Amino acid sequence: MKIVKIKAGYPIKQVKHELTALGLWTSPYTGAVKEDQTMLVIESQSNAVTNARLLEIEGVEDVLSNPSKHPLMDKHPSVIDIKGVRIGDGAEPLLMAGPCSVESEEQIHIAAQMVYDSGAKILRGGCFKPRTNPYSFQGVGVEGLKWMRDAADKHGLLTVTEAMAPGHVDVVAEHSDIFQIGARNMQNFDLLHAVGRAKKPVLLKRGLSATISEWLQAAEHLLHYGAESIILCERGVRSFDGNTRFLFDLAVVAMIRHVYKLPIIADPSHATGRKELIGPMGAAALAAGAHGLIIETHPDPGSACSDAAQQLNREELLRTSKEWGFSKP
Ligand code: PEP
Ligand code: MN
Repeated sequence: MKIVKIKAGYPIKQVKHELTALGLWTSPYTGAVKEDQTMLVIESQSNAVTNARLLEIEGVEDVLSNPSKHPLMDKHPSVIDIKGVRIGDGAEPLLMAGPCSVESEEQIHIAAQMVYDSGAKILRGGCFKPRTNPYSFQGVGVEGLKWMRDAADKHGLLTVTEAMAPGHVDVVAEHSDIFQIGARNMQNFDLLHAVGRAKKPVLLKRGLSATISEWLQAAEHLLHYGAESIILCERGVRSFDGNTRFLFDLAVVAMIRHVYKLPIIADPSHATGRKELIGPMGAAALAAGAHGLIIETHPDPGSACSDAAQQLNREELLRTSKEWGFSKP
């Protein structure tokens, strides 16, 4: 973050006007300054402009730097490579798909075949499930990680699965390619540190009401503790209308892609909670700049142990992924 120091007596309005024209967002500096001194903070969502260019603006006396809260994320590449699968700027859009929960060996093997046939490169599936209600299905645990690994390997797919506690980290690292941090755990800092130490790629879901700054700082925790790379995932935030499960924040997708220039995928399954909206909202997310999508799919959605209403069956998955432009390799 930068701070612009304005020449004494110079009209601040004029400087602000020039800064805005360069795509910079400003706010008044609230730290201690001399009485006749005016400073403007350039917000982190602004365009990248060099100090030299700022100093050319009449009325700008100096440009100071304000330490970023997420310096490692600021330097994170806009495209990453996970075992030959590229995600981010310049890479093909990427599809990740699979059931909400791994339920049985047979179910994840059938799902992996569907996922491969849809053109997806990454198999998703939860073995440790964060459930709002303690009496809901809680996941099959470690056994499921092994079934998932076998099912993915059969088709050359990578895997992504959620770790919910520091105690899950070693076993998830052993059997899976990418860690998922769920929305409810975005600010579980002990978990972020433990997952970071595994030095693997991490798919970090946005918290249910997290700001971009909080989200990037959560990612910073992961990188600070050693995570190899981060994929951010917008999965909907809390709002006031119950027709959809959450409010799919596509502006945030465009922000992360085009302003922060970081790898970002979108999850229309959890965001909408309704299978009939997955197709259009997936297309909208790709149009907004998502580098990929993560979708829930199940061989028999009606019998799913979790999130039944939002999971696509085989026919729906193949049709929808084709509409988005994905196809079997
Ligand atoms: C999931 O991906 O199955 C999940 C629980 O997602 P979220 O953390 O976004 O609710
Ligand atoms: Mn789910």
